[in-house]
Amino acid sequence: MTEGIPKSNKLGGKVAIITGGASGIGEATARLFANEGARMVVIADIQDQLGRSVASSIGLHCCSYVRCDVTDENQVKYMVEATVQKYGTLDILFSNAGTIHTNQTILDLDLEKMDRLFAINVRGMAACVKYGARAMVEGGVKGGSIICTASVRAKKGSPMLVDYGMSKHAVLGLIRSASCELGKYGIRVNCVSPAAVATPLVLKSFGYKDVKTAENAFLCTTSLSEIALTVNHVADAVLYLASDQSAFVSGHDLVVDGGYLSI
Ligand code: NAD
Repeated sequence: MTEGIPKSNKLGGKVAIITGGASGIGEATARLFANEGARMVVIADIQDQLGRSVASSIGLHCCSYVRCDVTDENQVKYMVEATVQKYGTLDILFSNAGTIHTNQTILDLDLEKMDRLFAINVRGMAACVKYGARAMVEGGVKGGSIICTASVRAKKGSPMLVDYGMSKHAVLGLIRSASCELGKYGIRVNCVSPAAVATPLVLKSFGYKDVKTAENAFLCTTSLSEIALTVNHVADAVLYLASDQSAFVSGHDLVVDGGYLSI
């Protein structure tokens, strides 16, 4: 149980939505937000059983689950409107749900697969930012924060992951454009860009047998070769962007890569 006295109170009283919050980076962030005093963390996902069980393990007094397939605009609208109706406001939106397809080379690019990936990673991300920002503007929220999950793949070429790399470049375009428009309402829009981290998505997609094997495989990709990147490192970066500690940071891509992009 994450229930108990918050570690500190960086998100005291705030209401947050986390898409893809049932697993991996989203789950770790939900736990951290609750621990940092968020009044309510709404986990939105398509894995209902898992999402409900994560919410109840965090504590139903400060965490709830809502089913939302981000590819469906109406579900995204409902997710945001229901949150505001139930909890009175939306201060933080972490648009994190995403997927990956392996073996997508440019010469054999499966465009139907690409459309499906774009529906989540690009269209879904844009829908979440649209409705999250609307709720903040209409609710006159002060200090609203929107964070998207991009990737180090938004900064360099992605052989075998062509559609994934394109989709994450699009996330950078989304946060930069949205930050230009939303600054006048006091809403900040940023993204976090992790390097490879051993989550269920990565284990399943790349066939690693367990977290340790995946972490060992990723160690040599960074300059911090003694430390494996974990979901908690990413959650810490998201917390910074969500909290008032980053009050003057907007349109920024916070890379969490142990030096990967500098090698
Ligand atoms: P994960 O599979 O553990 O979590 C992703 C969650 O998104 C899952 O719970 C899944 O059910 C949910 N989801 C998928 N499609 C959805 C949809 N249509 N609607 C709502 N929810 C949906 O994977 P993760 O690694 O934690 O991925 C989270 C984000 O981090 C993704 O955007 C991913 O691209 C990004 N990312 C991951 C890595 C990595 O190495 N793991 C690196 C960089 C960026």
